[in-house]
Amino acid sequence: MRDKFWEKNSLEELTTEEWEALCDGCGRCCLIKLQDDDDDELYYTSVSCQYLCQDTIRCTEYPRRNQLVPGCVPVTPDIARQPWLPNTCAYRLRAEGKPLPQWHPLITGDTVSVERVGISVKGRIVSELDIPEEEQEEHIVRWVSANSDEPVEIWEEIL
Ligand code: SF4
Repeated sequence: MRDKFWEKNSLEELTTEEWEALCDGCGRCCLIKLQDDDDDELYYTSVSCQYLCQDTIRCTEYPRRNQLVPGCVPVTPDIARQPWLPNTCAYRLRAEGKPLPQWHPLITGDTVSVERVGISVKGRIVSELDIPEEEQEEHIVRWVSANSDEPVEIWEEIL
């Protein structure tokens, strides 16, 4: 991978390897989202897709995830510009011309940093298999948001 590729290149210019490395592995995009019928506001829940491994926070069906889950949209440069991705998502941040955050593994050199600051969903979620659909609303959380103006909650600073 090229030195500081995420700073020097647009999303469209990244190689496949660089593109994959840009994902911080937080798992936030694998949480169920609910939309308010009245004002279209989007809310994230702490209910995860059934195919998200709770231990590794990796998709267990990555190659065929889009067939299994119709609403699972692969992140592309165009999708990265959509306002419904989490406001901490590395693809969205770079699409908006913002720097990678302090916890990102490409900055820290350590994938565990995403867990240390509480950006990873690890230990904070329940599977959709364990929550009836009509109860998902009770699991709306504020620690994940698509709203760029929402302050990002982190557990500790990594300097
Ligand atoms: S929210 Fe973005 S950075 Fe986090 S797992 Fe999803 S694609 Fe990767």
